[in-house]
Amino acid sequence: MVDVCDIQVMKPLLAQHGFHFSKAKGQNFLIAPWVPRSIAEDAGVDESAGVLEIGPGIGPLTQQLCLRAGKVCAVELDSRLKPILDLTVGEFSNLEILWEDVLKLDVPALVKEKFPGLRPMACANLPYYITSPILTALLEADCFDSVTVMVQKEVAQRIAAAPGSADYGAFSVFCQYYAQPELLFDVPAHCFLPQPKVTSAVISLRTYRERPWKVDNEKTFFRLVRASFAMRRKKLSNGLASGFPELGKIGAAEVITAAGFDANVRGETLGIPEFARIAAEIDKRTGGQRR
Ligand code: SAM
Repeated sequence: MVDVCDIQVMKPLLAQHGFHFSKAKGQNFLIAPWVPRSIAEDAGVDESAGVLEIGPGIGPLTQQLCLRAGKVCAVELDSRLKPILDLTVGEFSNLEILWEDVLKLDVPALVKEKFPGLRPMACANLPYYITSPILTALLEADCFDSVTVMVQKEVAQRIAAAPGSADYGAFSVFCQYYAQPELLFDVPAHCFLPQPKVTSAVISLRTYRERPWKVDNEKTFFRLVRASFAMRRKKLSNGLASGFPELGKIGAAEVITAAGFDANVRGETLGIPEFARIAAEIDKRTGGQRR
């Protein structure tokens, strides 16, 4: 197996194929072998797993996934990488590479087609410029056992943040609605070629088989969450009145007290069950559109 993390091997190989890193495509490739190994191990990839990898690059994580998984389906946007991936991961019969933009894929349909009988997982060293849309698509697909990804450290901290903390925001609530986050380990910039300007971290999102909260109308719930953090330094009633103009100022204040909270409560202190209670109260008053 080609040692993809050995820059003495990879630099000449990349040069031979005239490959230049694309900043616009978020191309920072791993050159520290312990990182892809740890991601695959900590994600719990085994032969029962069907793994969707986003952005295989030159294949360091792909190799580690293919060594463990029942099947790996890797989606890569940059077809210039084809001859290099042929050399680094061409030997794996359990690998299929799709040369596509992950954001244009129907993820649930892909998982159903590619991983019958397998436990679907997602693993990736993500292109950072599209971290949020990719994570949104993976979690909303609602078909993975777990999503284990490398992201910017500060994004990982936001995803895992607790109510009331400075990092807690709408994206924390969104991710924690679907999955239980666990920060696994940090990855310093020197582990990549070229080096990014930020520290990275690997985070695991273990999706709930059954969610521990009841949300009748997700549309109202997520609209409420966005409204709450749009004015995070202000009282929730302000955010609510502005995000749900149909309630009016008085209605917004009433919703909060009817849901059992102090009129001065701030959205950033609320967890998912609390947001769910307020969302239910909003629906009671507005009829709650679902689409
Ligand atoms: N997995 C490799 C590694 O760890 O060294 C490469 C990771 S690099 C941070 C991100 C990869 O995602 C690049 O190979 C890039 O070309 C690819 N990529 C960027 N945008 C993409 C998209 N929209 N769909 C699929 N892959 C994409």
